[in-house]
Amino acid sequence: MQLYNKLSAKEREALLEEAGEDRLTLSFYAYAKIGNPELFRNHLFIAWDQMDVLGRIYVAHEGINAQLSVPARRFNEFKKFIDEIYFLENVRLNIAIEHDIKSFLKLKVKVRKKIVADGLNDDTFDVTNKGIHVDAARFNELINDPNTVLVDMRNHYESEIGHFKGAITPDVDTFRDSLDIIEEDLKDHKEDKNLVMYCTGGIRCEKASAYYKHKGFQNVYQLEGGIIEYTRQVENQQLENKFIGKNFVFDHRRAERISEDVIAQCHQCGKTCDTHVNCANEACHLLFIQCEECAEKMDNCCSTDCKEIHALPYEEQKALRKGKGASNKIFKKGRSKVLLYKQ
Ligand SMILES: [Zn+2]
Ligand SMILES: [Zn+2]
Repeated sequence: MQLYNKLSAKEREALLEEAGEDRLTLSFYAYAKIGNPELFRNHLFIAWDQMDVLGRIYVAHEGINAQLSVPARRFNEFKKFIDEIYFLENVRLNIAIEHDIKSFLKLKVKVRKKIVADGLNDDTFDVTNKGIHVDAARFNELINDPNTVLVDMRNHYESEIGHFKGAITPDVDTFRDSLDIIEEDLKDHKEDKNLVMYCTGGIRCEKASAYYKHKGFQNVYQLEGGIIEYTRQVENQQLENKFIGKNFVFDHRRAERISEDVIAQCHQCGKTCDTHVNCANEACHLLFIQCEECAEKMDNCCSTDCKEIHALPYEEQKALRKGKGASNKIFKKGRSKVLLYKQ
């Protein structure tokens, strides 16, 4: 039985192009108690591989977090399969607004310690004791209330290109850091203010809301389905859109445009721009914002050093990399001294 990917990303790309088939990009999550994540993981992989599902799925004792694409014609089959899993029956599927048949090139189902890396000891509080879920209409009302503190629970490189008007956007690299910052900022308002949170699809707020309730906050709300679902409801119900810029997403598309506002700037020249790229030097891979002119001038690199390395023959680049990991990948998303215009 095949339990892992056999095709490379390149081979998959060619296949997807050849098939030319419509695919739906979607995400969902659920907190649940999963006794044997390994077994559950294999169950998912076998079924989804057959359905031609591609994506990145994390399974842990605390639940599942999935980002994937599925051929449009097999969507019903896919839906039926997940509805048969008791804690996924009628789970909210966040379906992407913009579709790209190549949003994912592999099916990776991984067992992790947590579905949200939060550095928290969950035994100390009940993750399922979550805040009040609100839809887009109620969310708009709540954030108009002067008694509301609106908090973006995402990381700095996400809120930099788009966020709700008036939101606090902590300058953090991790979810854990923002939990602490918000708690400190709001410690005198645990009872009198509405703490309203949002994130990409809701998974981080769901845990954060349980955490803050545990910490004594009385009025904790979260945007149900996150920015993705908000955008859908705003369009369907013709509500006022209070989100400006782009929604950062975790697949090859990198972001979905929600409003025409461009609120960020090129990290190299300061020009108005909100296009994330990864430095073309494989050993660097820094995530940063780069305008088209700088991309051309810098050969898609973040610095002159990277540009020089990138210009070397591939074998020489490989020799230089030997023994060094791509450290920027994880720890320096959008942060580096070489980026002059990163505030
Ligand atoms: Zn530029
Ligand atoms: Zn670089």
